[in-house]
Amino acid sequence: MEPFPYAPAPESPAIVDIRPSYGLFVGGEFVDGRGTSFKTVNPATEEVLAEIAEASPADVDRAVQAARTAYDAVWSRMPGSERAKYLFRIARIIAERSRELAVLESIDNGKPIRESRDVDVPIAAAHFFYYAGWADKLEHSGFGSTPLGVAAQVIPWNFPLLMLAWKIAPALACGNTVVLKPAETTPLTALLFAEICQQADLPPGVVNILTGAGSTGQAMVTHPGIDKVAFTGSTEVGKAIARAVAGTDKRVTLELGGKAANIVFDDAPIDQAVEGIVDGIFFNQGHVCCAGSRLLVQESVYDDVLERLKRRMSTLRLGDPLDKNTDVGAINSSEQLLRIRALAEVGDAEGADRWSAPCDLPTSGFWFPPTLFTGVTQAHRIAREEIFGPVLSVLTFRTPAEAVEKANNTPYGLSAGVWSDKGSRILWMADRLKAGVVWSNTFNKFDPTSPFGGYKESGYGREGGRHGLEGYLR
Ligand code: NAP
Ligand code: MG
Repeated sequence: MEPFPYAPAPESPAIVDIRPSYGLFVGGEFVDGRGTSFKTVNPATEEVLAEIAEASPADVDRAVQAARTAYDAVWSRMPGSERAKYLFRIARIIAERSRELAVLESIDNGKPIRESRDVDVPIAAAHFFYYAGWADKLEHSGFGSTPLGVAAQVIPWNFPLLMLAWKIAPALACGNTVVLKPAETTPLTALLFAEICQQADLPPGVVNILTGAGSTGQAMVTHPGIDKVAFTGSTEVGKAIARAVAGTDKRVTLELGGKAANIVFDDAPIDQAVEGIVDGIFFNQGHVCCAGSRLLVQESVYDDVLERLKRRMSTLRLGDPLDKNTDVGAINSSEQLLRIRALAEVGDAEGADRWSAPCDLPTSGFWFPPTLFTGVTQAHRIAREEIFGPVLSVLTFRTPAEAVEKANNTPYGLSAGVWSDKGSRILWMADRLKAGVVWSNTFNKFDPTSPFGGYKESGYGREGGRHGLEGYLR
């Protein structure tokens, strides 16, 4: 089905001011790195956006010292009610500069402006608002009120500003100081956040931002001056970090990969379920740890669901991330595109049937069409491995017990979705699904008051809500 014609409605990039090069944010100011540098690109155009400093071990040392000084001299001594004022101020500035942050995020990451504007940035602000409220009430948290010290925080590229907020807001509310590293491909909103810290008059050294690649992250988590490691990223790197800190008294929380089941029963409202399936796997190009990448459909409605799903997928608009009509933006990097292509080709080779929504892919940049595989079994690698892209594997089931068994048959346990008209069945399923979050008749809903985290190889520790304080208190 041809999408109806429309007039492009691009958001103007004029609101952002990208500098040709960026240093590191240490001790409240931008300083030159002592290492080399790298480039960040716009994945929708492949245009180089800026030259970014790559923090060396010496820079990591400098940042950890700045964070320690700020912790000892200022931040850990400040009453919670005073810390809260800074967090509220940061939340308000994020809200005030939301358009700038959203445009910058879409340019550096490739995600549609509709999502950066309506999801990433408002929820990032909401996290600061939420944890600001906790800063003077920690004695009621159930986890004590003593901070840990200096936290090393390493985040991925799929929700750059939002993952920063998930990490920094609870850490600061609890009285810790931080050294944070954004992902190599998406450093720009973290660097704008550094400016926001300056604008909020946050005491120097409370937040330090180090750009760099995996080796910078490694130097951070292994630095002896760190009390806490908070990591979001792949299970592979998470395991390496767990090994690296084993035997030290560093506290660790790990938010890792997922392969969520989105389970549709025959009594579900099918059109709503189809919206939820689409949102579950095509939101943020499928670069979502909790993406509903395994669709489990009850056999009796399989044909109906598949027909409506393909029809809906055919109406998704893929293209310019800054266009307000865009549903599916660019894949974040050429490396990620290669990974998605490779796992999809494994799906072909394993005998599953690939179907992609008919859409023209732009000639420059990194793109992958919304795709689904049918004829998938539990043994297929596309049913087991995280693809982290806009690719859905479709399986079927007959009974609720079979749905539970298939859903739990994965090394991961981050999230799951259940679509049914019956509340009792939803509760029965939720009791049995081994996943940190179970959504019913919705998917990919995030709220700062609600804890988020995994079972099994999806990691340990929770972020968000009262539970999110536990990882930052002694
Ligand atoms: P990744 O390769 O593990 O990278 C995550 C971060 O770790 C990046 O900043 C990366 O730096 C850094 N890093 C790489 N090697 C490191 C090392 N040896 N020591 C310390 N830091 C290191 O993951 P990704 O591909 O960026 O992100 C996708 C993954 O994140 C997916 O598996 C997804 O499921 C997971 N994720 C989980 C959650 C959750 O809440 N559970 C949320 C979002 C994403 P560079 O980028 O510079 O390489
Ligand atoms: Mg980029």
